[in-house]
Amino acid sequence: MSNVLDAIVVGCGFGGVYNLYKLKQLGLSVKAFEKAPDVGGTWYWNQYPGATTDTTAEIYRYRDDKELLNTYPWSTRYLYRKDNLEYLKHFIESHNLGRHIQLSAELKSASFDAATSTWTVTFNSTGETYKTTYLILATGHLHTPNYPDIKGLEKFAGPVYHTGVWPEHRDLKGKKVGVIGTGSSGAQLMVNIADDVSHLVSFQRSSQHVVPHNNGPISAEEREFVNSNWDEIWKTVDNHPLGQNIPFPNTPTMSVSAEERERTWEEIWNGTNGVAFMYGPFGDIVTSEEANRELCAFFEKKIAQYISDPDKLKKLTPTELYLKRPVTMTGYYETFAKKHVDIVNYQFTPLVEANEKGLLTTEKQWDLDVIILATGYEAMDGSLKRINPIGTHGTLNETWAKGSTSYLGLSEVGFPNMFFSIGPQSPIANIPPIIEVQANFIAGLIAKAEAKKKENGDNKIVLVEAEEQAKDGWLKKCLEVEEGSLIKTVKSFITGNFVEGSNVPVHSWLGGFHTYQRFIKDVTDNDYVGFKLTN
Ligand code: NAP
Repeated sequence: MSNVLDAIVVGCGFGGVYNLYKLKQLGLSVKAFEKAPDVGGTWYWNQYPGATTDTTAEIYRYRDDKELLNTYPWSTRYLYRKDNLEYLKHFIESHNLGRHIQLSAELKSASFDAATSTWTVTFNSTGETYKTTYLILATGHLHTPNYPDIKGLEKFAGPVYHTGVWPEHRDLKGKKVGVIGTGSSGAQLMVNIADDVSHLVSFQRSSQHVVPHNNGPISAEEREFVNSNWDEIWKTVDNHPLGQNIPFPNTPTMSVSAEERERTWEEIWNGTNGVAFMYGPFGDIVTSEEANRELCAFFEKKIAQYISDPDKLKKLTPTELYLKRPVTMTGYYETFAKKHVDIVNYQFTPLVEANEKGLLTTEKQWDLDVIILATGYEAMDGSLKRINPIGTHGTLNETWAKGSTSYLGLSEVGFPNMFFSIGPQSPIANIPPIIEVQANFIAGLIAKAEAKKKENGDNKIVLVEAEEQAKDGWLKKCLEVEEGSLIKTVKSFITGNFVEGSNVPVHSWLGGFHTYQRFIKDVTDNDYVGFKLTN
């Protein structure tokens, strides 16, 4: 059976749902497809204990959705996984989007047909084929799990879970649990399971600076403050590199006295948004090594206040600068102070292999009942590579043979009328505002193409495609920004050197959400320069 639509959205997480909403506003026939049996994307798949946002609740939602704040109040400063899911469902219901969503429908293939200027899209689970003018891949930049290559892991007798593929409750009570990885997922998970398990061993390739976020209840007055200062709050977000509700005055760290630095950092440690350490009162933590070292010295002092065992302290104290994606989780060091919680730091005792009973390091055998991989994702491009759409000159993977590329993080040359929600070279920041900026831009481009079609009067599909030169210019800009940042020196999914064998020239836009947004506005105001519209 063949079905014809104006637009197909793949994925029903925050990105897919918002793109669906925007395209419906244009009056197009649109359908969104979701692989999982429920909406939510990351918030569906990440049901590991303690999964929480680390962006404050008032801005982890759609900006043009102010009325929903009043009808759907939130109760904690940071939202738990289930709250995010409920918010998304409430949004879907309020805008009557459910009837355009098909669940349990996994994309099998997508290919562009030049003769008809349409995309042919097929789905595995339903066997259905669709023809569509526009194809939006909102498949999540943090969706395809990164499975580490651990020798002998298949011999392990117990279950091996990945935090990113955790769609149901798993019983860890009284078990000996090994957790590999200590990014946001690992840190949240470990703090939340420690009191349930009999023994917790954290296997760390590199230890992380983990700062508190001090989650807690939100009062009606605080919510009222947000409602009445909504526009001001978003102005702050728009000026923040990570799209956070944190003032960012750009003061150099070393321009103030040592006492002032100490006082400021103590305030953040005891305050409510740990992200302010990296992008907050001081503006040069990721560009000045001296500033970064000063902050690391502060962290070292703080960690030592929680950890009295010198061996644990040595293993938990990072040797790298503070440049990875910030991890905020209250209770992290308190958890490691507990007697039944151990750390293996590969720097001192590398992992040798997995075996039937657990994990063997150069120091000893760790017997385990469960191994949990909190090893992150093939970020930015992993899901897109698996879909591997076929464009006008071959597959996406062929185009990306030397690394994944894009124009503005949302389109690729040779793939007309196809767009990404958070593709490679998108900013790394608070996710919903990036989704909105990109979806608004895509909807604007599509509106332009639809207007042109009407103007032409021949009802022929208008193709929107990024120009090679524009893409090269964008990649050059991304590289220039990366060159000026210390972030390129650490192993991280942000830079792409995280995935072994990656040859990505530059993985994300490191200039921040604030500059990305201005760039997108400039392109929009310049009549979508860099895109050609043809038919
Ligand atoms: P992540 O930040 O990429 O961290 C992965 C962890 O696994 C790191 O500790 C990494 O070590 C380790 N690792 C990777 N490969 C390994 C290997 N072969 N052997 C040993 N260790 C290995 O992944 P994540 O924690 O899932 O978080 C991903 C992103 O999702 C976050 O940064 C964030 O954007 C998002 N997230 C957000 C929240 C939230 O909002 N609170 C919660 C969860 C996730 P190295 O440091 O040495 O690379």
